[in-house]
Amino acid sequence: MEIELLEKALKRQKLARKEAESLLERKSLELYNANLRLQEVITNTNLFPEENPNPVMRCSGHTYDLMYANKHGKEINMFLNSYTGRRVKEKFTQELSLSFEKGIHNQFDMAIENKTMRFNLVPFPLKNYINIYASDITDIKATEVRMQNITATLKQAQQLARMGSWELDIASNHMIWSEELFHVLQVDPEKFIPSHESYINLLHPDDKQISNDAVNKAIKYKKEFVLIHRRIFDNREEIYLECRGQIDLGKDGKVKRLYGICIDVSSKIKAQQAKEGFTKELEVKVKERTEELINSEHKLRLSLVKEKELGELKTSFVSMASHQFRTPLAVIQSNLGLLEILNSIDENQEPEKYKKVTGRIAGEITKMTELIDEVLILGKLTSGNVHYDPQDIDLIECCKVLNKQFNSIQQDGRIIDFEIEGQPYNIKLDSKLLTHSLSNLFSNAFKYSEKKNNPKLKIIFRPKELSIIVKDYGIGISHTEIPNLFQPFFRAKNATEIKGTGLGLSIAKEYIEINKGHIDVKSVLGEGSCFEIKFNR
Ligand code: ADP
Repeated sequence: MEIELLEKALKRQKLARKEAESLLERKSLELYNANLRLQEVITNTNLFPEENPNPVMRCSGHTYDLMYANKHGKEINMFLNSYTGRRVKEKFTQELSLSFEKGIHNQFDMAIENKTMRFNLVPFPLKNYINIYASDITDIKATEVRMQNITATLKQAQQLARMGSWELDIASNHMIWSEELFHVLQVDPEKFIPSHESYINLLHPDDKQISNDAVNKAIKYKKEFVLIHRRIFDNREEIYLECRGQIDLGKDGKVKRLYGICIDVSSKIKAQQAKEGFTKELEVKVKERTEELINSEHKLRLSLVKEKELGELKTSFVSMASHQFRTPLAVIQSNLGLLEILNSIDENQEPEKYKKVTGRIAGEITKMTELIDEVLILGKLTSGNVHYDPQDIDLIECCKVLNKQFNSIQQDGRIIDFEIEGQPYNIKLDSKLLTHSLSNLFSNAFKYSEKKNNPKLKIIFRPKELSIIVKDYGIGISHTEIPNLFQPFFRAKNATEIKGTGLGLSIAKEYIEINKGHIDVKSVLGEGSCFEIKFNR
């Protein structure tokens, strides 16, 4: 707003100057013509033309008495001799004497009534008189005063706004700076020669091209410009300048002059930068807080889901467990009933008949014991009471021992094919937890692949991690059931005819995770399954 006002003032000053220039031009021309005519008349007739619109007078060189005056000259003479004119007559006479005694042309301005007159005194010592040519310069004076006022106000305004103005004459490449511009740019007005080039030299290297381009474009496309650039110093902080340029067209329609203002906007820019910095900081903080909030909300949601899952799991666990326990108990009960019947029918029963029934009871008791063991393990797991003792172990040796145990109990004579890939190294694991997990995978690999090829065990040692892969060529798992595989008591549809509790895999997974590992499964129904455990080195 402030800049706009100053720009307007600058424009007004330029306009007033233009007016003054053309007025001066016109008056000078008039004066020149009048003088020419006068000169002509004087030389030809030695008389003053009565009709001359400008006052002409002739005074005696010694007494300064009026010898001749045309119509307007007489009016001036009358004024000088009037009561009010007497005060200026003295000065007038002084000027006459100065001119005559020294024999020089003399020019002075004087207020005659409400006009400002310019007097030109031309002494003719040989003829002993002085010719006086006067002209009315009231408008010129008024314009001059107006100009002075505008310039003074502008100067004040520039000082207040820390703003300088400049003017560049295109043809001569001559540049004029206002006094304040030297202050704004912090250069010495005594030493610094203002020019477009010297101005550009004060700027930051990155801003020079843009500033040059702006001036060239203004000249080429007759366009105003506004730009912000940096004035740099050797030992001080740079300042930001807003430079506005206007064009002044010549009679040929081309840009004759560029003029404008240059204002120190450092405090504004710095405040803006600080504001932007603050806003950015605030944005980052808001973003961080929002992320934190989203994260905690996400965590909350997850824990709620987990809580819900746990609740559901507990319910299903209780119903599943009671169901799983009830089945062997029912078998035991029915077989006990059978024993009673056998006993009541004939006391001398053949031992084989008893054996069959007691065998069934023993089998179900074993099954129940296994189930109770696994449920107890699961109980420990859920309460977080599992003992974890990681040691540097030789995995190959550990697997060899386990393989041997499993191979020896297979009734169909199958064994685990063992393969090792990569450079073996020891790894820090809890061997008990690992052996338990692997036992379950080995047992399943044999159990779910009866009459098929040997299951495979492969250990791959990589520089940063190792994989233990247990692969079989058995019944496989339907892809729809794979997501539930590690849930307690889950048993796939194709496994119902095969003995099992549905607890082994869930325990194996928990133990692997306590060992800081990860288990994954790939399986194709009817083709076989592949379990992969990964541990970081
Ligand atoms: P289970 O005592 O029933 O074997 P697990 O927890 O060890 O219990 O396994 C859960 C279920 O995953 C099994 O009932 C079976 O349906 C499926 N399963 C596990 N291992 C295999 C495998 N190697 N091949 C096919 N199905 C498997």
